[in-house]
Amino acid sequence: METDLLSNVGLVAFLVPTVGTLMYGAALYLNAHLFSGKKLDSDEEVRSFTETEAKILGLDPSKIEVKFLSDNAVDVARYYVGGERLELLLGRPVRESTISHELYHLKRMKDKNRGFSLLGYLFNEEPRAVLYGSKRTIESKRTIENTIS
Ligand SMILES: [Zn+2]
Repeated sequence: METDLLSNVGLVAFLVPTVGTLMYGAALYLNAHLFSGKKLDSDEEVRSFTETEAKILGLDPSKIEVKFLSDNAVDVARYYVGGERLELLLGRPVRESTISHELYHLKRMKDKNRGFSLLGYLFNEEPRAVLYGSKRTIESKRTIENTIS
């Protein structure tokens, strides 16, 4: 009887992270290939899109500084305690979902008034931001389609 219980705990301990990893991998794949949104070519387009998306999240665009990194650099959202200064560091090419994703990180850090722990980032914040970025891409595509038709 005890052996059955232990083997079930082992099964759950194996299945939960495995299924979680597969789902997270699928979300990352879909985000990168289907829901990454338009590529923004000019700095002006990036700044304009950032302003629009920041307002949707309730962030003050005047407090967000956008900086550009070298090509294909990892994008970073930087929060300074107190929330008076927020930075988006973006590698090119910049896609719409990248901005939504990074702004979502800023929103979450601002709400907590702190950065994320490594485990919190990996298992909570990053999956949320990936889903948020995809969701915004889907929503903005719908808005464009409704405007056209
Ligand atoms: Zn992220």
